[in-house]
Amino acid sequence: MAKQNKGNPKDVTVKALFLGPKSENREYFKNTLNFLMDEHMHWRRDFHPEDREIFSIDEVRSKNYQKTLDRTSEVLSQLSAKLKATSMPWFSARYLGHMNSDTLMVANLAYMAAMLYNPNNVAYEASTATTPMEIEAGKDLATMLGFNPKTSWGHITTDGTIANYEGLWMARNLKSFPLAVKKVKPSLVKGMSDWQLLNMPVQKVLGLVGKAKKAGCFDAVRSETVRGTGVGKGTLGVVLVPQSKHYSWVKAADVLGIGNKNFIEVQVDGHFRMDISVLKKTIDAHIAKKIPIIAVVGVVGTTEEGAIDRIAEIAKLRAAYEKKGISFYFHVDAAYGGYSRALFLDEKSRFLEYNVLKKRLFSDKVFVGNHSYPSREIYESYKAIPQADSITIDPHKMGYVPYAAGGIAIKDRRILDLISYFAAYVFEEGKDSPTLLGSYIMEGSKAGATAAGVWAAHRTVPLNITGYGEIIGRSIEAAQMFTRELEATKSLKAKGKEFLVQPLVWTPDFNIICMAFNEKGNANLEKMNALNSKLYAESSYVSGPVYKNDWVTSNTELSKEDYGDAPKDFVKRLGIPEKEWKRVGKVRVLRVCMLNPFISNFQHHDVLWKGFLEILRKKLEGAISD
Ligand SMILES: *Cc1c(COP(=O)(O)O)cnc(C)c1O
Repeated sequence: MAKQNKGNPKDVTVKALFLGPKSENREYFKNTLNFLMDEHMHWRRDFHPEDREIFSIDEVRSKNYQKTLDRTSEVLSQLSAKLKATSMPWFSARYLGHMNSDTLMVANLAYMAAMLYNPNNVAYEASTATTPMEIEAGKDLATMLGFNPKTSWGHITTDGTIANYEGLWMARNLKSFPLAVKKVKPSLVKGMSDWQLLNMPVQKVLGLVGKAKKAGCFDAVRSETVRGTGVGKGTLGVVLVPQSKHYSWVKAADVLGIGNKNFIEVQVDGHFRMDISVLKKTIDAHIAKKIPIIAVVGVVGTTEEGAIDRIAEIAKLRAAYEKKGISFYFHVDAAYGGYSRALFLDEKSRFLEYNVLKKRLFSDKVFVGNHSYPSREIYESYKAIPQADSITIDPHKMGYVPYAAGGIAIKDRRILDLISYFAAYVFEEGKDSPTLLGSYIMEGSKAGATAAGVWAAHRTVPLNITGYGEIIGRSIEAAQMFTRELEATKSLKAKGKEFLVQPLVWTPDFNIICMAFNEKGNANLEKMNALNSKLYAESSYVSGPVYKNDWVTSNTELSKEDYGDAPKDFVKRLGIPEKEWKRVGKVRVLRVCMLNPFISNFQHHDVLWKGFLEILRKKLEGAISD
């Protein structure tokens, strides 16, 4: 049982950042919103005060004018009623489902304020205030992820899906560049075989981009890359991802013309991290057949399990292959886990030494419970993140800002030349803001309000151990405590029957917990799956008033097809024999994403936990009585 937290001064800080589960900060929120709305009204009125009013008093007092306003009010009441009746209560400790939580007040207010100005970040002309915010927020992300702010680049995408598309887009175009040089200007790559050209390290290719520019043939070369010629049949190679990848990668391989056949999923281990020895074997098998590797993707915070791939090991592997003349692009999909790199940074964005970090996590009261997070392995993974060429990171997940805000950080901004549709005036001397963002991102028109929300969040909450690190640290600690409590609980009794409960992994890498129940003595996996499906049905919202739900979670199925035998030991712990796993080949689990910053470090943790167990017991009763 974790110790109760008495008198943590930092507690006050985090709670002042959110509207709160009971709208505790409503006065502040309303007053500030009012202020921001007044500002906007004044701005309109003060724009050329000499302009005459064009609404006449007679018009304003007319019946139809009033009717129009009445209709507007009526629709908005309807809207509000609909929103209240069925929306998910992200703010509540009773919601422990998908990757959602309360969002930062400052981000919500900034978004609402900026939205009235309706900026469009596709072009600077249409977003003079918010394009610089997007660039600044992108720089914040790149810096937090360990890139050099002077040579890297980052920006806000609609979501992690688009960021992954951009990552693969760059990897693909980059892979095809050296061969295109050979076609247009062979002297630049004299003496190099096609295989060598297909295995050029990223930095060397970017150097070649510079040479092609100097030689005046860059445009001609670029139109001979895949963006001009199309991908062709199997000419570029394969993309390697862990089995635990987000499904956006499958779509990315499709829309970018890589093809699903060239999209290889690597077995994960019992901790649901990509198995490095299998990765190595997979790379070897492809190079033996002279099939190049376009990219390897590592995941920091898998969508289903919150697992953290061994990023340092993947980076080491690439370095070892480069010595043997083999290279590939390295993308880290940290859509979910990226912001938690803040936990490892000091006030000057320096990556903390392991022992110093361990001390600070407790002396700063980020952690108060009894656990040993983070392991050395996880620490090394976060440390190695900047060895990637690009990184996906979602502000609308662990950045606690409203949708739709994904993001990408890119180590070497020269790579933008390979995807842009205009000359690279992007980073002209003395010009920090690009004039046409839309020319070298995947999207077109996009909300400047999103950038305002992310920018304001970053200005308010430091991207280090004292800010985001603390908020996210709490969510991680909550997951650790939850797992320990599950372990201690072992089983629950409902209607005279006993039900075993087990977490998917003993120590979660991040803040997601998967778990399953099984009736004691049951050795039938189908029966166990049916129980957990029913349990999920009891713990999810389908229709009707959401107030009726006392607990909401999410669920997923881990199948042999997707995960090989990775879930086998988990199933065994629940009393299911191995041959049952072989026969049925899938296990249903409840999935709890612990983003809520009010659960750990919580004065009432014991009360909360007991209440939670009681709810689970009732759900079990419901599940077996249907
Ligand atoms: C959520 C997630 C994505 C996709 O992000 P969206 O913002 O939902 O498009 C990609 N990868 C991982 C690992 C994710 O968790």
